[in-house]
Amino acid sequence: MKPPPFDHHAPRSLGEALDVLAEVGEHGKVLAGGQSLIPLMNMRLAAPAHLVDINRVGALDGIEAGPDGVRVGALARHAHLERSGPAAAVQPLLRRALRLVAHPVIRNRGTVVGSLAHADPAAELPAVLALLGGSVRLARRGGTREVAAGEFFTGPLEPALRPGELAVSAFFPALPPRAGTAFREVSRRHGDYALAGVAALVRLDGDLRVAEARAACVSAGPVPLVVDVTAVCGARPPEAAGWAEAARVVRERAEPETDIHATAEYRRHLTGVLAERALREAAKEALEAAAKESGGTP
Ligand SMILES: Cc1cc2nc3c(=O)[nH]c(=O)nc-3n(C[C@H](O)[C@H](O)[C@H](O)COP(=O)(O)OP(=O)(O)OC[C@H]3O[C@@H](n4cnc5c(N)ncnc54)[C@H](O)[C@@H]3O)c2cc1C
Repeated sequence: MKPPPFDHHAPRSLGEALDVLAEVGEHGKVLAGGQSLIPLMNMRLAAPAHLVDINRVGALDGIEAGPDGVRVGALARHAHLERSGPAAAVQPLLRRALRLVAHPVIRNRGTVVGSLAHADPAAELPAVLALLGGSVRLARRGGTREVAAGEFFTGPLEPALRPGELAVSAFFPALPPRAGTAFREVSRRHGDYALAGVAALVRLDGDLRVAEARAACVSAGPVPLVVDVTAVCGARPPEAAGWAEAARVVRERAEPETDIHATAEYRRHLTGVLAERALREAAKEALEAAAKESGGTP
């Protein structure tokens, strides 16, 4: 299948890219890895008149890992972030989630920011950004703005991008002390989009009681669903935190859809099962982190 005709623009700098985007306005689309946009165009589900190909804007491919978190440039490929040791040390959930994204060939080309800009509720990285409370930096000719994850995903395949804007980077906050994360999902075949998936973060206080517990679900609604279960299991030691009850709360908030792969009811059931496993795993990791930080054993 072939895409409808379009003009291809190949800017070599960010300024040039923003100029082209300003000129073509709502008729333009950014082309990053092309792993989602090109299939959509080939199937004639998208027909932008102008493609602004950012692959020659080398300045956008950086990954900066610092004490506060990891900033990922618009051209950093999934595989690049997956292999970054400094990024995994600052926020281990990134590598865990990326290993679940598609197949290695797709990860070699697809970009992290492109996955966020695509805003597919079935994708792993939007759930990770939402769970961690990260943000996306958007640039247009004459200015930039930082949009929090909670406001960036506005609907299925609907990011808060305005015509003329380019997502230049995304910021994933660091893992706090005494905290752990996990990502569990079920897909029909390895590399497929998940039928259901849950990322979890658990943080303990100085007395090793649950101070914070959250889950973010994929394919559980029009945007990544983040459920804060701290009220259910907070202020208790992880082994008595009531993870099954927390998972029930997550399951009840999930609003998956039926499609050819699975019914909504089955997806909701899976979400509950995966939420309990992910929360328990994150809590275990938080205990291990606390023991390591205090120089003892859990
Ligand atoms: C067979 C297959 C299986 C896959 N399985 C999974 C999976 O299991 N999980 C998963 O998460 N993903 C999966 N993907 C999608 C893959 O992760 C893509 O890489 C990702 O969705 C989009 O990244 P990209 O760089 O290819 O973006 P593109 O395809 O280039 O663009 C996607 C959309 O984002 C916009 N965009 C991209 N970059 C920017 C930017 N910097 N600023 C503004 N807008 C931008 C484009 O205009 C377009 O609308 C799969 C893809 C394929 C082909």
